[in-house]
Amino acid sequence: KDMKVLVATEKPFAKKAVEGIRGIVEEAGYELALLEKYADRAELLSAVADVDALIVRSDKVTAEVIAAAKNLKIVVRAGAGYDNVDLEAASARGIVVMNTPGQNSNAVAELALAMMIFMARNGFTPGTGSEIQGKTLGIHAYGNVGKLVGRKGKAMGMNVIAYDPFVTDDALFEADGVKRVASVGELYEAADFLSLHIPATAQTRGSIGYELLMSMPKGATLVNTARKEVIDEAGVVRAMTEREDLKYITDIAPDAQAEMAGKFGKRFFATAKKMGAETAEANINAGLAAARQIVDFFKTGDTRFQVNR
Ligand code: NAD
Repeated sequence: KDMKVLVATEKPFAKKAVEGIRGIVEEAGYELALLEKYADRAELLSAVADVDALIVRSDKVTAEVIAAAKNLKIVVRAGAGYDNVDLEAASARGIVVMNTPGQNSNAVAELALAMMIFMARNGFTPGTGSEIQGKTLGIHAYGNVGKLVGRKGKAMGMNVIAYDPFVTDDALFEADGVKRVASVGELYEAADFLSLHIPATAQTRGSIGYELLMSMPKGATLVNTARKEVIDEAGVVRAMTEREDLKYITDIAPDAQAEMAGKFGKRFFATAKKMGAETAEANINAGLAAARQIVDFFKTGDTRFQVNR
């Protein structure tokens, strides 16, 4: 066996995911080692000592862990966010770090659709609600999650429009029957439901606030499964105070949660804990993708998903 792959998970993968990972690793002729529910760092430090590749979930891959892993060539974070890996320490040793983008997109997209219906039906409380069919869905950023929300929105009979200045290929929108709009202004102005899928960047931070919300149609709902940082919370509070028809639902609790909950009642909802990617399927997909990426890296030098270039 020429390579040893360690799966180190404080919170283990589902059994089915581990079996799948083992299948992929052993099929490639490599050895799989498992360290699950480890109680202290020392166990991790000794387990990484002789491995060539490491798969983790939210586990902290610190400079200390990297220093202890003398043969380490690649670390894959099974999941999207990789702030648990010390990229600098890895890069200094020439270790490739990857994430597994796109593997939880469907889970997040399904939640976004569910959130629209939940708000349209008064938070599942008595009273006359409304339907999402025939309404306009605005998709802010047409990436992995955004495009799945677009397709699902179409399937629900919605009129779907989208804005993403970084997608250069118009055919991508056309293939989904989604109308591309040329500006953020045009998007919000027409959206009965606005689903946010922008990443938090210097450009997007605090960019969704008063002006955009005030431009939305009567009874509009803002749906946030992206990041809380993209919201200008004071602006949202001001718009929702001035306009009692606007609604906001989010998978990422705002800093102003107590204020929003107190002022807006059923027009506001935040999940108790971020749950967009919390499905059995997403966890399995991410684990299998991590194993495949490691095999592809060793066999063909594929570094498509590297995050520390
Ligand atoms: P992605 O990278 O596939 O897509 C992001 C898209 O945003 C890209 O198409 C990019 O062109 C576009 N974009 C970047 N800057 C933009 C701007 N200024 N204006 C308009 N578009 C812009 O990401 P994704 O996988 O679709 O994830 C989208 C968001 O969802 C991320 O912020 C991610 O952190 C979040 N997310 C949340 C959960 C959850 O549990 N709720 C889970 C996964 C991802």
